[in-house]
Amino acid sequence: MNATSEQRMASRDAELELRQSIIDACREMAAQGINQGTSGNISVRTDEGILLTPSGLPYDRMKPEDIVAMKWDGSWTASTGNVPSTEWRFHLDILKSKPEVGAVVHAHPIFCTIIAIMNRSIPAIHYMIAAAGGNDIPCAPYAQYGTAELSHAALNALRHRRACLLAHHGLIAVGPNLRKALWLAVEVEVLAKQYHGCLQLGPPPLLPDDEIDSILKRWGQYGLRDSGTPKNAHQSS
Ligand SMILES: [Zn+2]
Repeated sequence: MNATSEQRMASRDAELELRQSIIDACREMAAQGINQGTSGNISVRTDEGILLTPSGLPYDRMKPEDIVAMKWDGSWTASTGNVPSTEWRFHLDILKSKPEVGAVVHAHPIFCTIIAIMNRSIPAIHYMIAAAGGNDIPCAPYAQYGTAELSHAALNALRHRRACLLAHHGLIAVGPNLRKALWLAVEVEVLAKQYHGCLQLGPPPLLPDDEIDSILKRWGQYGLRDSGTPKNAHQSS
């Protein structure tokens, strides 16, 4: 076997692994309770474009070959005749315009969606808000699913953040890799649940901006709000 065919095999193995990691993450979303039915979708970056979940296929039946490969120009192939998730546009646009992002997780978690229906951002109720890169999780204005308008609104909300809500819709979380994007999606749903609970008691007191800046500094994130991920965030109490 020559070097080129070895390289080709290695890259095929790497892609198969990536495809399986998307399926595992879909099942993990269900296990963590952040997904409703097949509404969630996931993408990861490859050399040529993105790998993306297909539209409307139950996660327990999904196989690596069902994952759709999409090029940067939006053209796509799927060996099993699947079509890309209806939300392919914001997945592609986010990965195209944010080179530090390696994976995008989208779902309709109950508490994130409740806050998003109310057109609210999640404010700095808890220091873990800093995991998304700043002092809030912004809510992008409503636009119909699958449209360029929604993609534009999401990109705008994610300009200085790694997560945002979508009004009357759900959540987007991004990360340098799929594991971190999924971790953040679960964390944002916890924050949304906490915020929802606080609102039952009255307007919650918020942490000041300089405290969030101080947390970002401890995580080595200050001034790097568009990149990286908190190293110790999951260990803190
Ligand atoms: Zn959606």
